[in-house]
Amino acid sequence: MVTSVHEFDALVLGAGAAGLLCAIEAGKRGRRVAVLERTDQIGKKILISGGGRCNFTNIHCRPENFLSANPHFAKSALARYTPSDFVALVEKHRIAYHEKTLGQLFCDRSAQEITNMLQAECRDAAVEIFLNAKIQDVKHTTGFVVCAESCEFRAPVLVVATGGLSIPKIGATSLGYDLARQFGLKIVRTRPALVPFVLANKDQRHYCGLAGVSADVAVSTDHQSFREKMLFTHRGLSGPAILQISSYWERGHPLRIDLAPNQEVTSSIREAKTRNLTSARAAFLGVLPKRFAECWLELHAPESWTNQDLEKLEREVHEWAVVPADTEGYDKAEVTAGGIDTDELSSKTMESRNVRGLFFIGEVVDVTGHLGGFNFQWAWASGAAAGRAL
Ligand SMILES: Cc1cc2nc3c(=O)[nH]c(=O)nc-3n(C[C@H](O)[C@H](O)[C@H](O)COP(=O)(O)OP(=O)(O)OC[C@H]3O[C@@H](n4cnc5c(N)ncnc54)[C@H](O)[C@@H]3O)c2cc1C
Repeated sequence: MVTSVHEFDALVLGAGAAGLLCAIEAGKRGRRVAVLERTDQIGKKILISGGGRCNFTNIHCRPENFLSANPHFAKSALARYTPSDFVALVEKHRIAYHEKTLGQLFCDRSAQEITNMLQAECRDAAVEIFLNAKIQDVKHTTGFVVCAESCEFRAPVLVVATGGLSIPKIGATSLGYDLARQFGLKIVRTRPALVPFVLANKDQRHYCGLAGVSADVAVSTDHQSFREKMLFTHRGLSGPAILQISSYWERGHPLRIDLAPNQEVTSSIREAKTRNLTSARAAFLGVLPKRFAECWLELHAPESWTNQDLEKLEREVHEWAVVPADTEGYDKAEVTAGGIDTDELSSKTMESRNVRGLFFIGEVVDVTGHLGGFNFQWAWASGAAAGRAL
């Protein structure tokens, strides 16, 4: 039984990065906005992001830092709400931050400062936030009606900002995709991205004893390459280079790992007085951590020490082919790739082309950033694009 009916100009589903920024922009323009959040807290992903310090943007943000079936879609929103716009907000709230590496901006103290800032901005813009809202049904007649247990929320505009499927234990649900289906919008197949790999049993036996060891590598698929750190885990591979390439990986395909980017490893073996395992070990210790060097060499020792076999070894060092068994899935994925097909949305406002008043923003849309603050920048930018159009 409905015991209360709330009327607003706009309803935003999800109090994450995109939903909150959208609500703030719309509220500042005088719209009466309600944000409905399933959990008991706003911005839970912001709080756990960047190891608790939130890598809130990247000053080198470019459209090339995003994956989407339509690589042009994100350009307009990203151009109209830039990293400097978000930095201006952070500075207005006197939040101390620093550039860690490669343009990645982090809070000096805590991610909580970002959620506090968003909460304060919501308060100033008279945005009403409803926590623990258990949404059961969304109806569309002349406007939208959202039923949440005994409450009914009504508005002519509905913004879906419920995020992706990653980390279900802190509140991720499929509501955004379910609503897209309900309203007849196409969805690009979703998959875990920025996610560690699980190695096949044989490779696990060979390499997972190295858990905790990391190396500077270049990892490639057919069309992409990332040079950063790779880390062995108890089940497979992780670290920034691996998380980045995971967004491009297709099941069954190999990763090509260059263990010594821009270096020649075997020249010192060739020049050694005696070519043997000892001179090879010395050469590999120059480029890889000791345990990894020894383990890899043991498994890839050449049949002989001829120039031909050393050339083969050199090629293998730069193109070590590994076929992961799987990824660690949504439980460990930082984001969800795929999502609402961008062909369904206006790139300027994020409004559905066919259902007037229905908007999709943030991670639920088929726009996925690289590691390094790009996913938040997309959340802020797409949130601002919609918020300014309400
Ligand atoms: C561990 C981790 C670390 C990360 N670190 C970074 C980082 O440092 N930098 C970076 O750029 N990106 C980072 N990301 C990615 C980033 O957090 C997301 O891309 C971003 O939060 C997406 O914003 P969003 O608003 O679209 O979705 P979310 O922030 O996920 O917000 C969605 C909101 O909707 C709510 N919701 C879901 N279902 C319902 C429902 N049925 N009813 C009502 N509400 C619902 C959720 O509870 C949530 O509050 C990280 C992700 C993870 C998992």
